[in-house]
Amino acid sequence: MSLIVQKYGGTSVGNPERIKNVARRIIATQEEGHRVVAVVSAMSGVTDSLIKLARECSPAPEEREMDVLLATGEQTTIALTAMAINAMGKKAVSLTGAQAGIVTDGVHTKAKIADLTPKQLKQYLDDGYICIVAGFQGQTKDHRITTLGRGGSDLTAIAIAAAVKADLCQIFTDVDGVYTCDPRVVPTAKKLDEISFDEMLEMASSGSKVMQSRSVEFAKKFGVVFEVRSSFNQNPGTIVKEETKSMEAVVVRGVSIEKNQAKVTVCRAPDRPGTAAQVFSAIAAAGISIDMIVQNVSHEGTTDISFTLSKDELAKVEAALAPVVKSVGAVGLESRSGIAKLSVIGVGMKSHSGVAAKMFEALSKAGINIQMISTSEIKTAVIVDEAKIAEGANVVHEAFGLGK
Ligand code: ADP
Ligand code: ASP
Ligand code: MG
Repeated sequence: MSLIVQKYGGTSVGNPERIKNVARRIIATQEEGHRVVAVVSAMSGVTDSLIKLARECSPAPEEREMDVLLATGEQTTIALTAMAINAMGKKAVSLTGAQAGIVTDGVHTKAKIADLTPKQLKQYLDDGYICIVAGFQGQTKDHRITTLGRGGSDLTAIAIAAAVKADLCQIFTDVDGVYTCDPRVVPTAKKLDEISFDEMLEMASSGSKVMQSRSVEFAKKFGVVFEVRSSFNQNPGTIVKEETKSMEAVVVRGVSIEKNQAKVTVCRAPDRPGTAAQVFSAIAAAGISIDMIVQNVSHEGTTDISFTLSKDELAKVEAALAPVVKSVGAVGLESRSGIAKLSVIGVGMKSHSGVAAKMFEALSKAGINIQMISTSEIKTAVIVDEAKIAEGANVVHEAFGLGK
């Protein structure tokens, strides 16, 4: 008998009717002769409203308490899904992250899985139960509730699939699979039949939130092949797996966009060894992640150092850098939001040239100014005005012939 791990996202369990739809799909999988573990998210909107509630009660809620609060979203769904299955005459049991054996480090709100021993879960499966596991949550060794970062139910599913050596891992969501770009932004985007772990990882970490990037990293590390597909129909989805030779024939697999970015410039910093180290050490010490970095050519012994980061971290980075600007002897700090990142991704870029040229030409024809550029082996990314990002995504998508 094979073992299938399924994950149903927030929209798929967004109301009682949808929970019953998920219950029917899980039962149908069991009736095909499989053992089933289903990981579920909080009902759509619930995590966001819990965050809002917290802010209404405290200007700076402790991260420990945030985790206790946020974990309730998924806990509601596991109970409701198990009830729905039981009401349909089958045996289901709900398990929290801790009950499923997910042990994490102590980094609240973005904890990493340290160990996963699904003893109870295996016992329930052996006893013929369908197991419904709460996504997004775990517990530290000393029994503190933790969460795994936004979108973290994907990670729960992949990690459980690895731990139970599942025969199949299916991520059910509200689109038919991974598309060449977010279909809500680029209407001509096409569903991909397959994509490599590396491409999926680059897409996820550059804004394609259809999969949480950490979950893809985990899947690659433990070789968990998975399928992304819709919970609203029976269409086959996208298989995410290790790169094959034939994948390199496609130069650009997809386009990603990431909004809510901000750019910070340390203006006219002295161009001498140690300046960049001081600036970025202060940012690291404040626990802020940054993205692109650009240092301009030096004029009269000074240079501008710019970097991008999430807009939400802007106030934090300004506070962290204020003393550094003084101590390195820079002229000042400039920051601006209202920018966004546009990336093209494909493993074929390793062996083909001309991708950047084609991307820049498409943007230029549309009159879209490029503010920053960065590249990796399989990605070219630019920063543009946020107001232009949808248009930029559409023209670049078109230029690479990715559309329908
Ligand atoms: P879930 O709640 O099921 O986890 P998410 O909202 O996290 O679902 O992810 C699904 C959404 O991801 C889609 O509705 C879509 O708008 C968005 N998305 C962004 N980029 C892509 C892409 N390249 N392919 C498919 N969907 C994408
Ligand atoms: N409910 C969590 C979130 O909204 C986790 C998830 O849905 O994957 O981020
Ligand atoms: Mg998600």
